[in-house]
This record gives sequence, structure tokens and C-alpha cells, in this order.
Amino acid sequence: MYDSLSAKVLSRGWFCYDAASFPSVAHSLSIDLHTHSTFSDGVLAPADLVRRAASRGVDLLALTDHDETGGLAEAARAASELDVTLVPGVEISAAWNGQTVHIVGLDIDAQASQLVDGLASIRRARGERAVLIAARLDGVGVSGSLAGAVRHAGNSAAVGRSHFARFLVEQKHVRNTSDAFRRYLGAGRSGYVPPAWPQLALVIDWIHCAGGQAVLAHPDRYRLAPRVLQSLFGDFAQCGGNAIEIGGDGRFKASAQIRLARHFGFALSSGSDFHAPGKNVSDLGDVTEIPPGVTAVWQRLRTVK
Ligand code: AMP
Ligand code: MN
Ligand code: MN
Ligand code: MN
Repeated sequence: MYDSLSAKVLSRGWFCYDAASFPSVAHSLSIDLHTHSTFSDGVLAPADLVRRAASRGVDLLALTDHDETGGLAEAARAASELDVTLVPGVEISAAWNGQTVHIVGLDIDAQASQLVDGLASIRRARGERAVLIAARLDGVGVSGSLAGAVRHAGNSAAVGRSHFARFLVEQKHVRNTSDAFRRYLGAGRSGYVPPAWPQLALVIDWIHCAGGQAVLAHPDRYRLAPRVLQSLFGDFAQCGGNAIEIGGDGRFKASAQIRLARHFGFALSSGSDFHAPGKNVSDLGDVTEIPPGVTAVWQRLRTVK
């Protein structure tokens, strides 16, 4: 696996990187460092995800299921048979100033005990929250949602709001998953239960204890005012956070994120946050290119050394 990437790196001059030559090199390598499989709320099994990534020309792929590393072994087996290098990853739910933020861990040792125990505690909290969500939905006339969500999750230890959303669509309570979040599952809606995620600092510690790089996922999606976003970046830096993800089409354009990343000394990461094939969603490898003059997080990954 490493050999094939090394060969690519050499043949395409990857490590001849400098700010001036990077753009032309970047075009020839495809990365995707944020994706989901059936081990969380994605719809493709890990091996199918890797095969799809390979068929779309992705060279460097991270599987980053929510609070779960169970799909990594299958993904690694599939990658070893294909021209894809797999970065072991995870996307961890964390609390910052009373709101949820997602921290992607890249290059993690999935056996590291702090990480294993931490993720298990989050999955327990997910299970408890699912019972409460179902009770709230029951209260507004939606019955049977716990069993329905668990059925969609496949893996009952990883039940999330996406699985409730799929149940609500299936039962025709809503037309699509966006509607499900808007009407039932989003913050303040009738089926919303405030989550009990661990604090940001603790989550970053788990990732570091597992040898990984901590990446602040999709900062544009938290809908924070510029000052608050800056405060999040500052706290993330103080906790030892390593990189932030660019991309998305939210209020905070990539240019603002890049400026802040430079200010705080973060590397940049980029990923599709792929969950399922479909219209109007990013597919594997559809990522915002990392611009010149900023360190790309993959340059710091042991997996590509
Ligand atoms: P959870 O971690 O269980 O609270 O669920 C969060 C997941 O729900 C995210 O990772 C997304 O996959 C999905 N999600 C959140 N908001 C929306 C939305 N407005 N529309 C569709 N999916 C969403
Ligand atoms: Mn998700
Ligand atoms: Mn996320
Ligand atoms: Mn994600």
C-alpha cells in the first residue's frame, strides 16, 4: 500500500512540493480525507466506499465514521488490493461552548486505549440519546422510531439523527432528510435532544494519544459569526488542534478560513464528507483544492511517509 503511494509521490514529484510548484502537482493527485460508511451514517460498506473512491481516481482516502473505527479493517483490506492509500480516521462529536463541533482524527491508531474508551463512551451516549429522541417523537405522534432508526443504522451502537431522518422519510412523515432535520431533528425542534458530547480539549487529547492529527471539520457549517469562529479557532489552537478543513459553500468562504488558518498556524485538510451517492451532494474526491502557501495536512501523515 505504502509502496504504491510512494511510487506515485516520486513519479509525480509530490514531495518536491513548495509553494510555487504545488498547484500543478495538486491537480495530479486526488485526496479525500473525510468520508462515511455503513459503520456510521453512510450508505456504502467500507469496501464499496474504497472501490468507488478508486474508480473515481482518489489516491489518498480517509474513512472517518462518526465516533466509530469499526470499518477501518475492511477498508484497509479493500485498499490494499487497489491503487488507493487508506488513512485510518474517525470523526468525533465534541462540545464547545455548548454547541456541537466535529473533530476529524487522521492517521489514528484505532487500538489506542484512550481513544477506544472515549469512542465507546460516546456511543453509549448516542444510545441513550436515541431512546430520548424516540420518546420525544412519540410525543408528537411519530411512533416506532427507535426500532426504525436502529434498523437503518445497521450498527445499533452508532445510531444517529441521520438514521431517524431516514425512518421519517420512509414513513412519509417528511419528504426528504433535510425536511426531517428542519421539522423534527434540528436544534430546538420537537425531536431534538441536546447531546452530551465530550469537551473539545478531551477529544483532541484522545486523537493525539492515538498518534493522530486533529482536524476541525467543516467550520463553515457551524453558522458562527466571524468573531465566534475566530474564538473557536483560538480555542482549537490552544488545545493543540492541528488542521482545519476547507470547503463548503457556507457564509464563511474558504478564503476567510485560509486567512485564519495562516494566522493560527494550522495545516489545511480537505474532504467531501461523502455519505451517499446522489444529486446535489459531493461525491468521493469532490474536494476543495488546498491552495499554495499553506501546509496540507497530508504532508504530516505517517501513512504517506
Ligand atoms: P448526530 O451526530 O447523530 O447528531 O447527526 C449528525 C449528522 O446528521 C451529520 O453528520 C449529518 O450527516 C446529518 N445532518 C445534520 N444536519 C443535517 C441536515 N440539515 N440535513 C441532512 N443531514 C444532516
Ligand atoms: Mn453524518
Ligand atoms: Mn460532521
Ligand atoms: Mn462527516
